[in-house]
Amino acid sequence: DPRINTIQSIIRVVPDFPKPGIMFQDITTLLLDPKAFKDTIDLFVERYEGKNISVVAGIEARGFIFGPPIALAIGAKFVPLRKPRKLPGEVYKQEYDLEYGSDCLEMHVGAVQPGERALVVDDLIATGGTLCAAMNLLERAGAEVVECACVIEIPELKGRDRLNSKPLYVLVEYQ
Ligand code: 5GP
Repeated sequence: DPRINTIQSIIRVVPDFPKPGIMFQDITTLLLDPKAFKDTIDLFVERYEGKNISVVAGIEARGFIFGPPIALAIGAKFVPLRKPRKLPGEVYKQEYDLEYGSDCLEMHVGAVQPGERALVVDDLIATGGTLCAAMNLLERAGAEVVECACVIEIPELKGRDRLNSKPLYVLVEYQ
């Protein structure tokens, strides 16, 4: 699909951000190009419309950029998966390991009903720890995670292998 090559070319790679040795994939340049941003959303919508998905769960913060337009287009609700202590209601909490230390995602209890079909959206999969925590939250609420969707995958980090064979769909692989 020629749209994917354009999307890939527009994502900016910033060396040594936020620390030395990291090649940061900066999706803000994609947001500056209305055609490429729309193509990105359309590619996901084309894949997920008609699949009976009732929940799109987006991961803070960049999953909040791509998740809601997909949810609106396929007629699903949007559920934010947030960093700790941001959600005011009762939450499910899932800790996960980072390279140094750990982090945590939270989801409101009652946002998702048992048996709902969910799509998890983020901008990028690196080690897969974040998506894995997100899936755990949805599954604890009784939802079925149909697939995870990201704009970018870093295949070298083998994050896909951490998803317990849950399908992962990505638009762009960064080699
Ligand atoms: P993982 O848990 O798969 O190791 O890391 C993925 C999470 O870190 C995602 O939420 C993603 O937004 C963030 N992340 C890690 N590296 C990058 C990067 O190079 N660019 C962007 N945009 N996000 C990154």
